[in-house]
Amino acid sequence: MIYFDNASTTKPCEKSVRYLNEYLTDKFFNASSIYKQGIENKNQINNCKKIITKTLGVEFKDNVIFTGSATEANNLAINGSIKKNFKKLIFSEGEHPSVYNTALDLKNKGYNVEFIKLTKDGEVDVEDFKNKLSSDTNFISIMHVNNETGAINNLDKLIEIKNKICPNAIFHSDGVQAFGKIKFTLNSDIDFYTISAHKIHGPKGVGALYAKNKNKLNPIIFGGGQEYNLRSGTENVAGIMGFKGAIEDISYNTSASEIKKFIIDNLNKKFTVNGLNTSPYILSLSYKGINGETLVHMLESEDILISRGSACSGSKVGNRILTVMGLDKESVVGSIRLSFSRYNTIDEAKIVVEKLNEFANRLANL
Ligand code: PLP
Repeated sequence: MIYFDNASTTKPCEKSVRYLNEYLTDKFFNASSIYKQGIENKNQINNCKKIITKTLGVEFKDNVIFTGSATEANNLAINGSIKKNFKKLIFSEGEHPSVYNTALDLKNKGYNVEFIKLTKDGEVDVEDFKNKLSSDTNFISIMHVNNETGAINNLDKLIEIKNKICPNAIFHSDGVQAFGKIKFTLNSDIDFYTISAHKIHGPKGVGALYAKNKNKLNPIIFGGGQEYNLRSGTENVAGIMGFKGAIEDISYNTSASEIKKFIIDNLNKKFTVNGLNTSPYILSLSYKGINGETLVHMLESEDILISRGSACSGSKVGNRILTVMGLDKESVVGSIRLSFSRYNTIDEAKIVVEKLNEFANRLANL
């Protein structure tokens, strides 16, 4: 099998599985228990938080909150920090559904919500961002790397603009497709940053929210008061340890860029690349006149797994992100997404290119 759908989820690495196993079996104790086994598990959770802030290049101040997914972390950042008197909330049109649909829900509830356009290259339109911000903007959520196209937003630049127009506005960024994949130091003016274990060879069902200042947050889930009273529920020690194993194994020196370049260079020129300045791990392609979904299934018959777009929109014919980037309908219908991991090889890329060219050509000539 060739697995080129790593933006959807990744294979857990050996270290992640080893830690998971250890904490599911011998070290199964409740991290909130006051005997030594519980205290040891709580210490391990704290160690994982420290590794997260170290990887982000920020200070650890008991400010990482583990959640049951990045979806939940995004919901916590938004619904947990927005106050009734907030005047204006800003989101980008490129956001993942866990942010986008939360924004729509807030709009339905009567908040003044505005969406920033994407450029044709898939990034947040900086001019539109400048124009839509005003001194009464209270909250901004702009993702770091887009999950459909891999487009990288320049958070430093956006923060610089925000600091001039509305310095007190809260700034959240969904970093799920950036953390552990592209090397960066988190801008010190970012209030909240979301990450997910299963996109970096950790287990599913474990996310985290970094909060520069957790006093700006209120819980959205109530219960026993775990995670500084911000995310109640017995700590998922094994999952968190699986996340720790994945973070310890992060490597920025992978073959992803080489694989991506090889595919682009060797594809039939009727394929067009969606997005510019993109992550080495994500490649969005369009081929006018064919159906991307059919192409996905033809590759599947050869044991090659790619995607039609994000798993959340994968079953639909449309693609919200490509559409707002201005792609015509034919290019949207003819789109596919390939996404890589450190386990992929150039030999795999050679096979995939050959099959993509063969099948796309066959579909185009039907
Ligand atoms: N944000 C982005 C950019 C994603 O790609 C994903 C995964 O699909 C999520 C959020 C949601 O992550 P999780 O599956 O941990 O809820």
